[in-house]
Amino acid sequence: MKPIQNDSYQVFFDDSLNILNDFLTKKKYSKIFILVDEQTSEHCLPIFQEKLPSLTEFDIIEVPNGEENKTIDFCIGIWRTLLDFEADRNALLINLGGGVVTDMGSFAAATFKRGIDFLQIPTTLLSQVDASVGGKTGIDMDNVKNIIGTFSQPQAVIICTDFLKTLPDRELNSGLAEIIKHGIIADADFFEEVTLLNDAKEITARHIHHSVEIKNSVVLTDPFEKNIRKTLNFGHTIGHAIESWSLNNEKNQLLHGEAIAIGMICEAYIAKETNGLSEENLDKITNVFIKFFGRYKIREGINNTLLDIMKQDKKNSNGKISFSLPNKIGSCSYDSFIEGSLILDSLKYYQSI
Ligand code: NAD
Repeated sequence: MKPIQNDSYQVFFDDSLNILNDFLTKKKYSKIFILVDEQTSEHCLPIFQEKLPSLTEFDIIEVPNGEENKTIDFCIGIWRTLLDFEADRNALLINLGGGVVTDMGSFAAATFKRGIDFLQIPTTLLSQVDASVGGKTGIDMDNVKNIIGTFSQPQAVIICTDFLKTLPDRELNSGLAEIIKHGIIADADFFEEVTLLNDAKEITARHIHHSVEIKNSVVLTDPFEKNIRKTLNFGHTIGHAIESWSLNNEKNQLLHGEAIAIGMICEAYIAKETNGLSEENLDKITNVFIKFFGRYKIREGINNTLLDIMKQDKKNSNGKISFSLPNKIGSCSYDSFIEGSLILDSLKYYQSI
């Protein structure tokens, strides 16, 4: 499959990881570090080493898995290990993991000694189609997601679909939400195609490739999210609030994609009320997310709490809550500032379906 070109780096599709071998031979780094979490250490590192038997000189940095660990404390741990192992500015950090590892690892690399090179090797469907592409790095603070971070580009992103074989079904399904989102904001035919799948296991490398093409073309046009890149946030204003609430209040916490799927249903309702999205398109969007994600029970009493969480969103401006809303499937606008009462109505819409 053809590599996808960003300004300064490429996204390679390479199940052999030969491309990494070539890259390391050319670059001659002083030291190589591989960041993993507990799960990718167990499931992905052995595959990685099997595919790259010639790579023997590296140090492993391990963090615990889970969004709750995407924090400054674990970032300090990464910086400290880099220091302890005498990483200089010519060192390389390879982030081998899902979005938590690629977000936090790229933030740690971008800030250590004012920036060292890093490579993204995403191992979840969500990080392959979304988190590892586009140069956003970050960590969470005080329960606000991705509130500290930078825009920093990797040397390359290498997508190896073999890693997905050990991914739990629920995590695989979570990645589907962002693939469907790419269809809703930019490609109606792709949306229809993915809608017809029976489940996330039917996602192929071609779907992943096309999803990355869509995200990449958007971020190439607007790398710093001044305009069209905001369309990628469809579903995320409400989705992030629900995700944060769930992280802090539930035992069985929602995954990122699951929360965004709920957010997209609510925000499609707002789009129908304010942005010309047809009733038929709202139904299609609602039905596809219910088909793949089922119904989540948003407790009646928390709607105002969710609204309060949305007020802290970094996308807001002058205290107004900002949304990116489709006007039809395949096309999306941004910078719609929506009243709290309509946001509450959209939560009630979700609660009523
Ligand atoms: P994650 O990194 O937490 O991974 C999910 C779980 O799967 C973890 O327990 C992980 O250890 C495990 N795992 C990873 N790869 C595995 C494999 N191959 N086999 C078995 N287990 C594996 O979560 P995620 O869904 O990949 O990413 C979510 C994060 O991505 C969030 O923090 C979100 O904010 C971020 N994100 C960032 C961007 C961006 O543009 N930077 C975009 C979207 C999402």
